[in-house]
Amino acid sequence: MIRFQQSPRSYSNRRQKPLLARRLIIIAVAIATSLGVIFTQLQPGQSLDPSQFLPTLQAHSLPPHLSQWQDTNSRGDYFEEIQPTPVGYLIWSQFPLKLYIERPVNASLSASSQQRFQEWVEAVLPAVEAWSAYLPLEVVEDSAAADIKIWRSRPPLIASLDRENGKFQIPRARAAETRYEFYLRPTSNNATVLSHRCTIHLSPDQSNEYTAATARHELGHALGIWGHSPVETDALYFSQVRNPPPISPRDINTLKRIYQQPTRLGWAMPEN
Ligand SMILES: [Zn+2]
Repeated sequence: MIRFQQSPRSYSNRRQKPLLARRLIIIAVAIATSLGVIFTQLQPGQSLDPSQFLPTLQAHSLPPHLSQWQDTNSRGDYFEEIQPTPVGYLIWSQFPLKLYIERPVNASLSASSQQRFQEWVEAVLPAVEAWSAYLPLEVVEDSAAADIKIWRSRPPLIASLDRENGKFQIPRARAAETRYEFYLRPTSNNATVLSHRCTIHLSPDQSNEYTAATARHELGHALGIWGHSPVETDALYFSQVRNPPPISPRDINTLKRIYQQPTRLGWAMPEN
């Protein structure tokens, strides 16, 4: 599986994955492995055309809500802060996106824990509602079927070894993290489409207001804004602020520019 993420931290919180998801991951590992083989067989100085084994870079047509979006006050964007992935911009092309939000299912939770969990869910839902004005989103009950999963858990902390001094670096705890991974999705006409899905870890330890703001911010990443705004009044500002802002016109201007870019995601893999 090819995984990338927001911070230099890898993913270790492995949940039990349903069979379908496990199968898709195996496929993804197979792609990653075969790409590795292709790369290692290259001679120095030899170049490789990725369109021989990956879909060609192409733009998708703009989703209708983004297409209609006009910022009459021209408040600008922060598109230059956005990082494309190795296969192009992180663009969804199959709508509505299916979104799973973790729910309290453990019957052994105390009444107060159940209530805190429920408050967390209710803090996350308005973020979904707010973004769905721009990209069609649908909340689903089955996590295996979801394009974007939001788990009520702290992002995993992974120590890494600093080669300079031989010491382990323990990263600072964060309230949330979004990761993406690629996989191949079979279609009904025997093609396979290069696809992605996202996982958001959203801490249970924040106030409801910050949970709402963090959900809004991380969903922005999952929807394709893979970078941060330098301006405090944008939802994708890089730091948490005292009065978290709603989604701003600059956030949407940026999202719209991203969705006008070419990507290999959402296109069929070349035959052979
Ligand atoms: Zn962020």
